[in-house]
Amino acid sequence: MKFFEFAEAMRPLVPGKLSRAPYLRELISMFTTVTENEWGTRNDPITVVSDSTLDSMTSRDNAFTKKLAQAIHSRLRIDNFIDVIQDLDDAAKMLIVHNLEQFGLGTKIDQLAFDAANELVNILHEKAKITTDDSALRREIRIHAALAAYRQELLVRSRGCQVCGASMVTVSNGKSKASPQIVFLDSDTPEPSRDDFAVLCLPCGEKYRLAHTKDDVAALQYSNSRLLTQQQLGDDLAPLDLDKKLVDLLQRIKALPRAQRTFDPNYIVVPLEQKLTDDGLLSRCSDAMAIYERVIRLESQALESTGQFSFNRMRAQIKAAWWSMIDADLTEAEIFSRLAMWIADQTGGDQYASEVLVAYMIQICELFNPEDLTGKVLAA
Ligand SMILES: [Zn+2]
Repeated sequence: MKFFEFAEAMRPLVPGKLSRAPYLRELISMFTTVTENEWGTRNDPITVVSDSTLDSMTSRDNAFTKKLAQAIHSRLRIDNFIDVIQDLDDAAKMLIVHNLEQFGLGTKIDQLAFDAANELVNILHEKAKITTDDSALRREIRIHAALAAYRQELLVRSRGCQVCGASMVTVSNGKSKASPQIVFLDSDTPEPSRDDFAVLCLPCGEKYRLAHTKDDVAALQYSNSRLLTQQQLGDDLAPLDLDKKLVDLLQRIKALPRAQRTFDPNYIVVPLEQKLTDDGLLSRCSDAMAIYERVIRLESQALESTGQFSFNRMRAQIKAAWWSMIDADLTEAEIFSRLAMWIADQTGGDQYASEVLVAYMIQICELFNPEDLTGKVLAA
């Protein structure tokens, strides 16, 4: 595709019926960086081009010079171009898709920003005779197109800055006071998914962009998996509310004095071995049970005797949550940690105590029961 064809196809991007030269100035400004100080000076690649040249650039390829292509390329602001395309309504996107098709570029609405940005780079490279390695630029296009496509969803999903927890609540006119920043989590995946991004507040986002470690990335990935769990379980289980007294039970688990955290020599691991195939998880659960099984049994009996806690009710709720995860094609370890996260989130409780409780539920035949998994009907 030639530049004048591309410019014609992208017409719906620029509002108003601008005539040829003003239209091209506006279009080119969407994908170039020119600071305010440079407006109208020789550093602005568009200013130095006369209106009559711009006019002919809308209909003839040879009016677009190698020099101008190089100037535009050196000031390319491809992220902005992707954003303005992504922000169009579907009708305008569809129009551009049809236009590009006329000039031989097949694309779809949800691919448009990505394909148009790459086509623009192709055109500039050809005209400017640039042959250097462009993999970094192509990668930037891929990442930013994914970010732009997921932006709304990511903002809705995040409940605050994923680093400091600052609120992202939107104030008037749809703008958020916290100006949420979406950062990329350094994955090498060819097609970034929404979990390769995180939402941070402005200060945390700037700090992350300046420098971050592998640990920072890992913490954000963990935060994403929590959000995903909350979202999945929120969809499936929102009406259920875990027994409030469960909080007491978790606190008692957490508050067990160190001196009492000893391995019970009478603890029997067989029930766990029959249900878990993941060795690492089996060790974690059996260690936890050797210390806590008796404690949980006695504590839940004590709570139940006060009449405010129903162990059976809690058991049914946790099992319902477990069932909702079985079909999601998760590993034992993933289901285990998601259940524990869910319990911790629902109770404002402690992650470790929640894991101990899940281990206990496995121990007493409620979760990961092989007979359940093969679909047999069990007597209650
Ligand atoms: Zn923050």
